[in-house]
Amino acid sequence: MSEPTIFERIIEGDVPGHIVYETETVAAFLDANPLTPGHTLVVPKEPYTRLRDAPPEVVTDVFEAVRTLSPAIEDAVDADAATIGVNDGTAAGQEVSHLHVHVVPRFEGDGGGSIHTAVGSVADLDDDEIGEIGSEIAARLG
Ligand code: 5GP
Repeated sequence: MSEPTIFERIIEGDVPGHIVYETETVAAFLDANPLTPGHTLVVPKEPYTRLRDAPPEVVTDVFEAVRTLSPAIEDAVDADAATIGVNDGTAAGQEVSHLHVHVVPRFEGDGGGSIHTAVGSVADLDDDEIGEIGSEIAARLG
């Protein structure tokens, strides 16, 4: 059996963590290295690595929890907005191999960027090239 992930250990109470929400399938706790006050991680209790690995009903539970939690988180820290995102795979910056959604409260003038700043540049593609990629994606969905 593989070692439990750090997030499983938090959920089990083996590692200290500030759990703010829990259902049968989902848990949410404060990030230990918050980007802003209230930065929260929402995770399935089962340690699926990536979004694609989790069954649809679990993904639904996770995103329902995100929807429930994000206004509570924003209100708790008097935030103006939130950046909500998943680093889905190591090349995207995923460090913990247990699917998690970041809810990062945002404040007017906090100096941070949008999700567009995650890559730092815009792909040099014309409309035909964008369309070809669209066709490739659609072809894989049957
Ligand atoms: P990733 O880069 O995988 O999307 O993000 C992993 C997140 O987990 C980081 O924001 C990091 O601060 C957080 N994290 C890593 N270890 C711990 C821990 O032991 N406890 C908590 N609460 N958060 C952690």
